[in-house]
Amino acid sequence: MTNVSFPEQDAVREWLLPEVLHGKYASDPTDFLALDSLLSPAERNERDVVRQFVETELRPHTREWFKTKPPLRELTRLFGRHRMFGKLIGQAAQIPPAVSFGLQMLELEAGDTAFRQLVSTQDNLVMFALARYGSPEHRAEWLPQLATGEAIGCFALTEPGAGSDIAGMRTVARHDGRDWVLNGQKRWITNGVDADVAIVWAKTEGGIRGFVVPTKTKGFSAVEIADKVSMRHSSSTELSFSDVRLPEAALLPLGSGPRPPLSCTSEARYGILWGAAGAARDCFHAALSRSLERTQFGHPLAAFQMTQQRLAEMCSKVCHATMLAIHLGRLREQGRVTAAQLSLGKLRNVQAGLEVAREARALHGGDGITLGFSPIRHLLNLEAVSTYEGTHEIHTLAVGRALTGIDAFR
Ligand SMILES: Cc1cc2nc3c(=O)[nH]c(=O)nc-3n(C[C@H](O)[C@H](O)[C@H](O)COP(=O)(O)OP(=O)(O)OC[C@H]3O[C@@H](n4cnc5c(N)ncnc54)[C@H](O)[C@@H]3O)c2cc1C
Repeated sequence: MTNVSFPEQDAVREWLLPEVLHGKYASDPTDFLALDSLLSPAERNERDVVRQFVETELRPHTREWFKTKPPLRELTRLFGRHRMFGKLIGQAAQIPPAVSFGLQMLELEAGDTAFRQLVSTQDNLVMFALARYGSPEHRAEWLPQLATGEAIGCFALTEPGAGSDIAGMRTVARHDGRDWVLNGQKRWITNGVDADVAIVWAKTEGGIRGFVVPTKTKGFSAVEIADKVSMRHSSSTELSFSDVRLPEAALLPLGSGPRPPLSCTSEARYGILWGAAGAARDCFHAALSRSLERTQFGHPLAAFQMTQQRLAEMCSKVCHATMLAIHLGRLREQGRVTAAQLSLGKLRNVQAGLEVAREARALHGGDGITLGFSPIRHLLNLEAVSTYEGTHEIHTLAVGRALTGIDAFR
């Protein structure tokens, strides 16, 4: 095999593609298209602060937490101190800092999906539900302590028999004198065992309604779902309500029917589509580094044409996912983004993330199935991400409905 050095090849490359190679090599391969230029200086600064937070406070623990789970209460407080919660809450009068929030989610998920998911649950699901549909008393009691991470919230919509089809829910709340009495079960509820407060969606005579349920209330119980091999940094739980008696004031007064809970999951979906781009970037970065460091057949893996093709495709997917996220963020800032566009963003970016993670894992060979390298962890996590907040198929149907006007869900 001829051993051609990289400098000798430069002349040939220059001759082939002088304009492309003007800058010789990508100065930052993880931002190949210089998408940073689409961000304001303030957005870049805020993004860099979150990146630093992930690198110093979170990434060093990812391997250990995959095995033992992070201490959620301390982690939530740490997130609170670093102002990770509530960025989009209370911004109604101004332009929502949607891209800045999205960049935060991207950087968190570059560390691990569970870091982004902690914000999605606490902020996009619980705080958003309270801010949008709660009473002034609900907001005054819970929002400050959720924002600082002093309290942990969970969002209880899915049930053992009602996942994609939430209309099939069986949890019921009925009036008993001036109280409400709640009975039923929820499944897959993130952080349910540690939560101080749960937003529980239940069927009432007036349709689906939300309730603010302190988890200490008699009749409320939470059991962790065992043997989860994806998203091992966070806990998923089954909740049971056995004659849980709540005051009238526990009812979220605004909104009824499936729209309120679905608007919360749509809010979370926005963070997910950014986060998936972060997981993809981390996997691509790992694959690129590995391909430059590891030598086989006398060359770095990166010197083989097939490796370069794999890297180019990963790079292209990271760029597309990031561009799509920034575009949807800008639409959101203008108040123009639709739920179907977020569905397209979620399904596309999670798919891209899965493809990049799988390829990056393969490029690491046998070492790629160990926790010493991030792609396998991201790959396992993204499997769950493609299911929750609406599965790939459900978002495909949402896009199909927006395109055709025909509802093909049933
Ligand atoms: C890690 C994790 C965390 C979660 N956190 C929360 C949480 O905090 N709170 C909460 O309320 N829920 C949570 N969920 C639940 C999640 O939102 C549901 O798992 C999801 O909505 C899918 O429901 P399901 O699991 O019951 O699957 P099902 O609805 O049973 O779907 C099974 C399969 O059938 C397909 N399918 C269903 N209907 C159709 C159709 N009409 N056409 C074609 N295909 C269809 C689906 O795409 C899927 O592939 C979480 C889930 C996970 C995995």
